[in-house]
Amino acid sequence: MSDRPVVTRIAPSPTGSMHIGTARTALFNWLYARHTGGKFLLRVEDTDRERSTEAAVQVIFEGLKWLGLEADEPPVFQATRAERHREVAHEMLATGGAYRDYMTPEELEAEREVARAEGRVVRSPWRDADPATWPADRPFAVRLKSPLDGETLVDDQVKGLIRFQNQNLDDLIVLRSDGTPTYNLAVVVDDHDMGITHVIRGDDHVNNTARQTLIYKALGWEAPVFAHLPLIYGPDGLKLSKRHGAQAVGEFEEMGYLPEAMRNYLAKLGWGHGDDEIFSDEQAAAWFDIKDVVSAPARLDWAKLNHLNNHYIRQAEPARLTALIAGIHETRGRQIDAAARVVLERTIPLVRDGAKTLPELADATVFVLEARPLTLPEKALGLLTDETRARLSRLRDGLGAEADWTVAALDARIRAFAEQEGVGLGKFGPALRSCLAGGSPAPDLAGALVSLGREESLSRLDDALSPAN
Ligand code: GLU
Repeated sequence: MSDRPVVTRIAPSPTGSMHIGTARTALFNWLYARHTGGKFLLRVEDTDRERSTEAAVQVIFEGLKWLGLEADEPPVFQATRAERHREVAHEMLATGGAYRDYMTPEELEAEREVARAEGRVVRSPWRDADPATWPADRPFAVRLKSPLDGETLVDDQVKGLIRFQNQNLDDLIVLRSDGTPTYNLAVVVDDHDMGITHVIRGDDHVNNTARQTLIYKALGWEAPVFAHLPLIYGPDGLKLSKRHGAQAVGEFEEMGYLPEAMRNYLAKLGWGHGDDEIFSDEQAAAWFDIKDVVSAPARLDWAKLNHLNNHYIRQAEPARLTALIAGIHETRGRQIDAAARVVLERTIPLVRDGAKTLPELADATVFVLEARPLTLPEKALGLLTDETRARLSRLRDGLGAEADWTVAALDARIRAFAEQEGVGLGKFGPALRSCLAGGSPAPDLAGALVSLGREESLSRLDDALSPAN
């Protein structure tokens, strides 16, 4: 196996949302493929025809695209491969790896009860029937002829050696009597045909792995390397659910997390590189090895995710953030035209340090979008005493003469003005900020002035100082 180029895959079932655990599984498969110079493939497990709507499939494509984890080849749709699955089931019949089971539903129910009473798994009386005696005209299921004793071993790359007692594994149905393939058969045939070398998936599939290992054996196919990832739990250690704030990829996107923050965060759920908290995709790919994944369950930690998201918001191109927060402002009912975009882009670097999410970044930019004249809150009007008005009006003249409309120059000018007036910044700073931003949060004075631009700043100041207020 090791001398074949690595081929990994993500094999989601379209259910209408993409669980964050699936995203993490996709990421680990993607990282491992990148690490080894191999390929990362996508298989849509759409055999549940009721749930697998076009929309549900789109959710997966969009989720992977948003996360930046696109597959290296076009997707494989499992449902289109049923004929191939049937063919393999018949091959198993021909080679003796499987048998025809003619038990009727009533007979099966009766056997179930006896098996339960005897504390053993279900066994079909047809298991050892001579194929020459198989009726030609009755419906049958195809069952895997599993070993009755001994052990099935899975050398899991994360969990270590897992042993399954064969006596506890019944003869799995691979083809139902209506001719439809079962899940485990479809997965094995598809993984084999897609050339998958490493199956990296959630812990919840461990029991399927025992089954699938037996199918590989019956077919004489080499099984892939298996690695089962610990599940992701909520911060309280309970199964991740709505209650914990979010569980679907789309919810994290809506809450304003950046995909690169999600990748960095998810990489650390079950894997890590020393104490490194922040790393690029390239670093993660260079460092990632499936053997380093830990088997302890991972817990979602909002504080860590927020910390990373803040980091990536501070790193991101302002133009990209502008497009993202313009969308947020628009869903909140504001029109964002080209001029507003220019102002937003200028404002973002001045206000983003404290933003943990995109909506928080949008909140921090609201002040530049307010239309003149601003409605000043009661508190602001209270600050505008005659003395302060006179002072702000002197400051306004100074600002009007400022040729260098930058944070450094404006900051120096405001400080020099305070000194010249013989007062602290506290004497007029809050009032100035209110004149510029109304009741909305705004950055430091010079930052607010630069965000708004000269003309808008001076006009807002004039509005506030007009006798009408
Ligand atoms: N379709 C399965 C799921 O969504 C994954 C199967 C696999 O990875 O083998 O959980």
